[in-house]
Amino acid sequence: MSDLHDIDKKLIWHPFTSLVSEIEPILIQSAEGIYLTTDDGRKIIDAVSSWWVNIHGHSNPFIADAIAAQAKKLEHVIFAGFTHEPAITLAKNLISILPSNQAKIFFSDNGSTAVEVGLKMAYQFWYNQGIEKKKIVAIDGSYHGDTVGAMSVGERSPFTNAFSPLLFDVEFIDFPSADKEDYVVEQFKDIARQKNVGVFIFEPLVQGAAGMRMYSPAVLDRLIQIAQETNIICVADEVFTGFGRTGKLFASHYLKNKPDIIAVSKGITGGTMALGVTSCSDKIVKAFESSDVLKTFFHGHSYTANPIACAAANASFDLLMRDDCQQNIRHISSQHDNFKQKIKSHKTVKEVRNIGTIIAIELASQAGTSYFNDIRKKIYPFFLERNILLRPLGNVIYILPPYVIKEKELDAVYRCVEMFLESL
Ligand code: PMP
Repeated sequence: MSDLHDIDKKLIWHPFTSLVSEIEPILIQSAEGIYLTTDDGRKIIDAVSSWWVNIHGHSNPFIADAIAAQAKKLEHVIFAGFTHEPAITLAKNLISILPSNQAKIFFSDNGSTAVEVGLKMAYQFWYNQGIEKKKIVAIDGSYHGDTVGAMSVGERSPFTNAFSPLLFDVEFIDFPSADKEDYVVEQFKDIARQKNVGVFIFEPLVQGAAGMRMYSPAVLDRLIQIAQETNIICVADEVFTGFGRTGKLFASHYLKNKPDIIAVSKGITGGTMALGVTSCSDKIVKAFESSDVLKTFFHGHSYTANPIACAAANASFDLLMRDDCQQNIRHISSQHDNFKQKIKSHKTVKEVRNIGTIIAIELASQAGTSYFNDIRKKIYPFFLERNILLRPLGNVIYILPPYVIKEKELDAVYRCVEMFLESL
């Protein structure tokens, strides 16, 4: 097996990883349910759902069968001028659970592309009507992906420094934390009054990469209402929050006011295949329904609506809608609630935040929430040595397990977190 490590080191460039990193990647041979199995037989609990994608556990046999059957029937076909049943069924499935104003589905490959598509749709919505509304507004601390457009609407940070000159101008409003809601609403009102604002993009209720920062549905409803009153298109990035993560099928279901465009990915295939989807309302569609060919949405990827990915997503959808899955989500949520009560007053804890299947424990560290916070170097190995995969965001430890995790298994993760807090 060390051969594999050598070849990996020589040939592969891993994401978010220094090329002179001393740490060898862990070789995973197989995975089942919540467990990753290494080449030397260790079983590691995947308490972060492999970058938040896995919802039904690893190597889920129901999804695996759907993938295998589809691969033998139709693996791929160009999606311009052609269509297929898995994509049609998926569109129907998604429209049945997305907010009721969503009318059409556009396919891409991942979260960043789903966001890019959303931004381009919103931007061209105004262009097609000959209206000058070119300013985009986003929320401070946001993360929307790593492609240039998605980076532009995200927080400027050491991650984006090298590309600063390439990123387009975006106006950021402050993060609407509980103590700042009225201020941010006024701030947004001021910006929205400028006639050139066309798009408002946000991660509804939870900013994942910023350290699982959470804000209220009530303030987001107020912001969307202002956007609607001032004719600004709202793009909800539900790449992370979609498919049950926040306790409801989509975070947008906590809202009274519905976004015009929604980007999803991650949990869509249960974490098995790369797929992105951007949905939009009839209002958006109408701006593109034109005999003028120049009003077409000229965007597409080679693997658009890949049938195997769509089949995986349909199988994942069937599992998600089952009572046992919805019950698991509720159970994890209430277990998180109880754990929060237990540890929130611990001397090393600054704050515990939770919604649905997500819980985040912010440590009372001097260095703040930066990704480069040194405490991160302590947290990650502490848990791995105990066979739990937790990938902290700076001084924020978060747990967001696949929904199939059992009560005892989640308790074991909590116990390990308590041990860590005691060790500080
Ligand atoms: N939007 C949000 C809210 C995300 O959390 C992420 C990924 N963490 C993305 C977009 C980008 O998704 P991907 O990594 O699939 O490109």
